[in-house]
Amino acid sequence: MKSYSLLIDGAPVTAQASFESEDPFQGKPWALIPRATAQHVDAAVEAAYRALHQGPWSGFNATQRGALLRRLGDLLAEHSETLASTEVRDNGKLLSDMRKQLSYEPQVFYYYAGLADKIEGSLLPSDKADILNFTRHEPVGVVAIITAWNAPINLLAKKLAPALAAGCTVVVKPSEHASASTLELATLIEKAGFPNGVVNVVTGFGDEVGSPLVSHSKVSKVAFTGSENTGKRVYELAARSLKKVTLELGGKSPNIVFPDANLENAANGVVAGVFAASGQTCIAGARLLVHRSILEEFSERVKSVAAGVRMGNPMDLDTELGPIANRQQFEKIRQYLDIARSDGAELLLGGKRAERPECGDGLFIEPTIYARGDNQMRIAREEIFGPVLVIIPFDDDEQAIAIANDSPYGLAAGVWTNDMRRMVHMSGKLQVGTVWINTYRAVSFMSPFGGYKASGIGRENGREAIYAYLQTKSVWLSTATNVPNPFIMR
Ligand code: NAD
Repeated sequence: MKSYSLLIDGAPVTAQASFESEDPFQGKPWALIPRATAQHVDAAVEAAYRALHQGPWSGFNATQRGALLRRLGDLLAEHSETLASTEVRDNGKLLSDMRKQLSYEPQVFYYYAGLADKIEGSLLPSDKADILNFTRHEPVGVVAIITAWNAPINLLAKKLAPALAAGCTVVVKPSEHASASTLELATLIEKAGFPNGVVNVVTGFGDEVGSPLVSHSKVSKVAFTGSENTGKRVYELAARSLKKVTLELGGKSPNIVFPDANLENAANGVVAGVFAASGQTCIAGARLLVHRSILEEFSERVKSVAAGVRMGNPMDLDTELGPIANRQQFEKIRQYLDIARSDGAELLLGGKRAERPECGDGLFIEPTIYARGDNQMRIAREEIFGPVLVIIPFDDDEQAIAIANDSPYGLAAGVWTNDMRRMVHMSGKLQVGTVWINTYRAVSFMSPFGGYKASGIGRENGREAIYAYLQTKSVWLSTATNVPNPFIMR
């Protein structure tokens, strides 16, 4: 089995214990991941703290930081094929999808490399004689980056690149279910020439590694992607020492289809929106809201597209739906299929483990659709994170908005219509961080991404994101020759 090391203070570190990572297509363990402890976390944070305050990194100017980030982007591009196949093996991602994703990921590093030397303070107007007042944006400190398993490199890149561009140092903890690609990326960080301790990677479990990292007194900020429940726990732990946080959490996003839409495009968009990556994306369009006048016709259309989806080996380039990434998630989805059954949901497609010959012993779930659902059902309210769609009818625009917004989450929504007024109206009324109109799953490092309500706090991507890794200092500089009365506030 393949084995990996932690990265602490620029050196590979072997942990005494390790745990197995399972290949979800073969249904067998394939790699040994180091099981870090609180001592490793402490060593990693201390290294990051030293690198921030004493090491050469503190003397790097913005242009030099940008150059290193560009180099890391180049290395990522050079090693994209290896990283892609690791993600397929470790996480059941489709090779076709990973190739596309990894050809895009270097751009994230180039984008923030370009922003590094555009972090500008300002000279502010002053209402006090002989005083200059200016602002500086300084790195927020040591950043703990904690990621989910469904897109390890992507979730890491959009935190790591702005954090390093801002001049922070970091300790990364990937998910215990998919750590391999992050550990491989760690070797590229060394190759790129970042000074020791600027980036550290510790792997292991939430309570053994995640909690001590979030609680560490020398960590100033936590950038987290994961579930709502863990997000709340992380927020509580971070609050104890008043750390800054950004939280990217779950969703239960609606895809809303009106009768005036191009229904063929809408059906393809809905199917891709919920079944891509086997539904294991935070933005999965897991609730399909359909106008009652086209309910039967459109439900049949979606069913027929979904029924034709090709399942099988994630390494085959024509596979469209791969396995569920890990056994725990597989069992969770099966529990929701039981819940749907006991709640009397009307099954239109799937609803069980896929036992097709092309799926072998892999952890596959059939694309599943429930018809004529109700927004109060558990399968319509809770995030399943699997290939499960529930169809909910509506009668008019206001009811569609009310149903869409009647959710604890607010990550994204899709709207399918050709009516311009409706597009503008819906985009204003939906309580979500991203609205897609006649498309779905379009994301870019150039555009802010994040959640309303229980879907998160803060934004990633785009220019704004870099300010989550900076803090503003106001500097007052007096050129007065006579000090005025110090007992009177100036
Ligand atoms: P999770 O919450 O189980 O785990 C996320 C990370 O938190 C893992 O690295 C885990 O080890 C760590 N963790 C667990 N307990 C911890 C603790 N006490 N302290 C610190 N860290 C701890 O989530 P998951 O199952 O890995 O990922 C799926 C979830 O992520 C879904 O809810 C999905 O919607 C969400 N997600 C959100 C986005 C987004 O951008 N909004 C993107 C991808 C995934």
